[in-house]
Amino acid sequence: MYQNQRYASLLFPRPFSALYTYVIPETMPNLQQGDFVLAPLGRGQEIGIVWTINDQKPNFPNLKNLIQHFPLPPFSSAMQKLIDWGADYYFFPKGLVLKLALPTKEAITYAPMDEFYSLKEGIDYGKLTQERQKIIEHLKTHKAQKLHDILEATDVSRAVFKAIYDKGWIEKEEKPQIFLKDIDYEYIPPVLSESQKEASVVLQNQVRDAVYQVTLLDGVTGSGKTEVYYEAIATCLEKGKQALILMPEIALTSQWLTRFEKRFGAEPTLWHSGLTPKTRRENWRACLEGKAKIVVGARSALFLPLSKVGLIIIDEEHEPSYKQEEGVKYHARDMAIMRAKFEQCPIVLASATPSLETIYNVNKGRYHHLILNDRFGGATFPDVKIIDLRQINLPKGFWLSEPLLKEMKLNLERKEQTLLYLNRRGYAPLTLCHKCGYRVKCRQCSTWLVEHRKKQHLICHYCGYEETIPTICPECQNQHSFMACGPGVERVLEETRKHFPEANISIMSSDHISKWSDIQTLVAKLEAREIDILIGTQMASKGYHFPHLTLVGVIDGDNGIAGGDPRIAERTYQLLHQVGGRAGRADLKGQVMIQTYVPEQPLIQALKKENRHEFVEVELKTREEWGLPPFGRMVTFLFSGRNQNEVIKIAQQFVQAAPIVEGIDVLGPVEAPLQFIKGRYRLRVLLKIKTGLSAQKYLSLWNDGFKMKSSVTIDIDIDPFNFL
Ligand code: ADP
Ligand code: ZN
Repeated sequence: MYQNQRYASLLFPRPFSALYTYVIPETMPNLQQGDFVLAPLGRGQEIGIVWTINDQKPNFPNLKNLIQHFPLPPFSSAMQKLIDWGADYYFFPKGLVLKLALPTKEAITYAPMDEFYSLKEGIDYGKLTQERQKIIEHLKTHKAQKLHDILEATDVSRAVFKAIYDKGWIEKEEKPQIFLKDIDYEYIPPVLSESQKEASVVLQNQVRDAVYQVTLLDGVTGSGKTEVYYEAIATCLEKGKQALILMPEIALTSQWLTRFEKRFGAEPTLWHSGLTPKTRRENWRACLEGKAKIVVGARSALFLPLSKVGLIIIDEEHEPSYKQEEGVKYHARDMAIMRAKFEQCPIVLASATPSLETIYNVNKGRYHHLILNDRFGGATFPDVKIIDLRQINLPKGFWLSEPLLKEMKLNLERKEQTLLYLNRRGYAPLTLCHKCGYRVKCRQCSTWLVEHRKKQHLICHYCGYEETIPTICPECQNQHSFMACGPGVERVLEETRKHFPEANISIMSSDHISKWSDIQTLVAKLEAREIDILIGTQMASKGYHFPHLTLVGVIDGDNGIAGGDPRIAERTYQLLHQVGGRAGRADLKGQVMIQTYVPEQPLIQALKKENRHEFVEVELKTREEWGLPPFGRMVTFLFSGRNQNEVIKIAQQFVQAAPIVEGIDVLGPVEAPLQFIKGRYRLRVLLKIKTGLSAQKYLSLWNDGFKMKSSVTIDIDIDPFNFL
């Protein structure tokens, strides 16, 4: 039968937005939107996704045929919408956003197979060596064995196996791999408290109704939020749909997983930076094929192509790590909300310290609000004590005050654990020559190098540049004149050791913990109480649960008050609250001690009074006055290049070309606080946009009237978090 010729327009995971149109050959009669295909592109071939299908011949000469159609379920239309939306909103080429959803091409081209080996019939083996004999005997009694199992059972080397395989004595059979997570979850419901029950019923109904609705699940750490969203996940499974849980990578620990397994009787499918390429391929594919039922991952899991999403959870929704700062700069929480909208499913934002953006949306009635008031099982929030450092004479070079030391000592005697929190990596934030004041600068950035005593090095925290600590000051030629100023975690470790030589002390910071497995090890040690005192940066503030951790000491409650970041007060409040939430999570009462020189500042007072509301009110008022988010929006443009004058010229031309629109302020260009990073000069232009106006429309006006130079890079950041 004659059929109309059809054409497919493809989107490729490449840095452009254009769709490319191809002829659909007769061999692919069932090709549909969202399908994965291979097509000629430039001189080579590329995998793309069928974005649209058309019957009309487009007006191009020399249309080429598609090459191959991969036997996979299609990319859902919700995913297509998400990619389209993300590209428009964040102002990135569509193909680059698609690339986030196609992190491994092998997942598309290669169906995971398992290989099974059996003995061929009727072979005369002749005289066998002992090792060969072992393999033959094993296969006589065991059919269809995996190589791994054969080698393990016989304790024979792979080479021996290969030798007899090559003789043709053994045959191989390939079968599609069974996805291990493709098993039934058996949910064991806990006995919920009244308020947990109420909250979970609301969420379960949303899942059953399959409606788009954003809900803030709001409750202090330990109030049982996780248990509540587990209930909703169970309902999602009952409906035969997939659940997606995002959490900051660092919170994705074996602790969380063990707890999950206890409830669901099976492990979830994982997505984080520690996966092997093979597992990444398998898990990605299992998402697309609908086999992965519960998927837990860090930020980028948002782009996993789950085919039937029924629920999305964003744990610790206030975490700034949800903002991707490299490449396509997106906010995973915000994009997940859009995904829920396209998928027509509920989304839950869980936090003890919700972001002001989220609170604002709750106040506006856009988000539903569920509150869990108390800690589960009567555990109470820790007492917060403020230590006014103005009243205490800390000796020079020491950072632990008497009252804090006293509590630490008592804690040690009780065999309870202490967390000392200081958000500064390394030994000291500043190292200078005490004779002439010379400070060692990074060769490529406008930053001071930070001393890391363990490594015996000075390190740049922006580009990683390192050098040894000079023994002679390059400025005044004095010997051994370099001196550390201010505390870093390593220095606090040194001081703590002096006071408590018998205690087990560890550091938790990104210099000491870099891999996923390092986190697992440290958490296990803490659980086993092999660590008495943990000294941690913000890394230690995440949602762990250590029943014997009862004291949290905040070394510097004032760190982070200054600086040009509009969210700094919010961030500090969240961090201090979260870190305090580590104390006394079970039967033991916890205590938080905050050392500060400015005890009267609102955020310290709010912590002391446990009055988040008061802090939020003040902070929202300030933001409103200044037109900062969530009142109005921001966009930053970062101009950078090796040639300073050229960067200045381009940035100035850019600002001059700015269309004039009421309600939009174009500020700058100004030097970024870090004028140089990796030898590149940096200027920033900031847009402040009144609510209701579209940043994207405005940007497209501008884009048309402005030409860039290739030696100057311009980075657009919509809803920026980083102002350095
Ligand atoms: P959040 O997520 O709000 O920090 P969690 O859900 O982690 O709180 O709960 C804190 C602790 O209380 C956990 O150890 C959890 O297992 C326990 N818990 C919470 N709700 C229940 C419940 N209904 N039954 C038994 N244990 C619970
Ligand atoms: Zn540097």
